[in-house]
Amino acid sequence: MSAYVSHLEAAIDGTRLPAREQHTLHEGRPLWVRYDLQEVSRTLSKEALRQRPPTLWRYRELLPVEDERDIISLGEGMSPLLRCDRLGSSLGLSTLFIKDESQMPTGSFKDRGQTVAISMARSFGVTRVAIPTAGNAGGSMAAYAARGEMEAFVFMPEDTPEMNQYETVQAGARAYLVNGLIGDCAKIVLDGRERMGWFDLSTLKEPYRLEGKKTMGLELAEQLDWLLPDVILYPTGGGTGLIGMWKAFQELQELGWLKSERMPRMVAVQSDGCYPIVRAFDSGERFAQPFEHATTIASGLRVPAAIGDFMILDAVRESHGCAIAVEDSRIVEWMKVATAAEGISVGPEAAACVGAVGHLLDSGWLSPHESVVLFNCGGARKYPKLMQVNLPRLDKEQGLDWASFATDLRRR
Ligand SMILES: *Cc1c(COP(=O)(O)O)cnc(C)c1O
Repeated sequence: MSAYVSHLEAAIDGTRLPAREQHTLHEGRPLWVRYDLQEVSRTLSKEALRQRPPTLWRYRELLPVEDERDIISLGEGMSPLLRCDRLGSSLGLSTLFIKDESQMPTGSFKDRGQTVAISMARSFGVTRVAIPTAGNAGGSMAAYAARGEMEAFVFMPEDTPEMNQYETVQAGARAYLVNGLIGDCAKIVLDGRERMGWFDLSTLKEPYRLEGKKTMGLELAEQLDWLLPDVILYPTGGGTGLIGMWKAFQELQELGWLKSERMPRMVAVQSDGCYPIVRAFDSGERFAQPFEHATTIASGLRVPAAIGDFMILDAVRESHGCAIAVEDSRIVEWMKVATAAEGISVGPEAAACVGAVGHLLDSGWLSPHESVVLFNCGGARKYPKLMQVNLPRLDKEQGLDWASFATDLRRR
C-alpha cells in the first residue's frame, strides 16, 4: 500500500503543513488531510473497488495509512443502506433510506474514526491514547486501542450513559467520571499530554478521525451506484460525520466518479435542548456561540461548542442545506415509531432526524418525491433507559384471558 496524501491543510486559513508528521491543530482549529487525487484516479478504478472486501479499508487510496501493517481493524465499514418504504410513507416520503451505523463493531459510526486514528497513531509509534467523551467515542477508542495494544485513558462527564461507561472499562481502558461537562474532560486530556505522553484523540484535534468518518460518504455513493441522494439528514454534535461526508463528495467529484454534478443538500439536525449550529446558521454567523445549559437525551447531540463549527456551517451552506432543531421531548416517541416501522435499532440521535423529516415536509423545504438518506449513527441498544417498558404480567396457572385479550387487540 502507498499513501496518496500530499499534505495537511489548515481549515481556517489554508496553511499547508507537511504530511507524515504528527500535527494537531492550527490556530486552534482543525486540519484537512489532502490527497494527490490525480494520482489516485490513475491507479484506482470503480471496477477494482468492487472486488475488495466490505470494510472501509476498501477506500485505502483515499485514507492516510501508508503501511498496511499499521491497520487496526475490527471489520468496520460498509454498513447497510436500507430502503425504508414503510417509515417513508408514514412520514410522507416516497424514497427514504437509512444508513445503519448501529451495525458497526462497537455499535456506532465512531468506529470509522477510531480505526483510522488508532492506525495512524500506531504508525507514529504511539503507545498511549486519551479521549474526552460523553457517549460512544470512549468505548470505540478503548476497543481499537485494545486491539492495537495501546494503553487507553477515557474521561467522561458523570451523566454519561451507563453502557458507554461499562464498554470502555470492559475493553481495558482506564476510565474516569468528571463532575463537569465534556469541555472539562477535554482540559484534563490536554493537561496530560506532556505529563503522560498520550496522543489526544479528541474530536477534530487530530486530522485522522475525520478521514475515517468520510467513508460514510464514499460508501453512500458506491451503494447508490455513484448517484447521490437529494437530501441527507445528519444528527449533528461535533459534526465530523457531516463535514467528512461533504469532503468525500468533493473528492469523488474531483475523481470524476459521480454521475451527476448535483450535490445533496446537507441538513444538520440538532435538539431544542442544544442547538448551537442551528442558531449560527439562522443568524448567518460563520462561528457558533457556545450553547449554555445544554441538555438532551441524545448524548451524541450534546456538544455545546464544536471546534469544527465553521466547517459544519460551510458544508451546510455550500450544499444549500439547512440546520434544524427538533423537540427533545418527542425523541423517544420517534425512536419507537421508526424501529417499529422498520426493525432498525434507531437511536435517539437518528430519531431527531425522523422528527426533522416531518418538520421539513411541513415547511415545504423538503418535497415528498425527493430522495432522502437519514443516518442512524448509533443504535437504541446503548440507551436501555430510553426503551424501558413495563410488560403486562401473566400467571402461569391462569394463562391469558383470551376474551379480554381479543378486546385488547381490537383496541390497538
Ligand atoms: C457522536 C455521535 C453523533 C454526533 O456525531 P458528529 O459527527 O460528531 O456530529 C450522533 N449520533 C451518535 C450515536 C453519536 O455517537
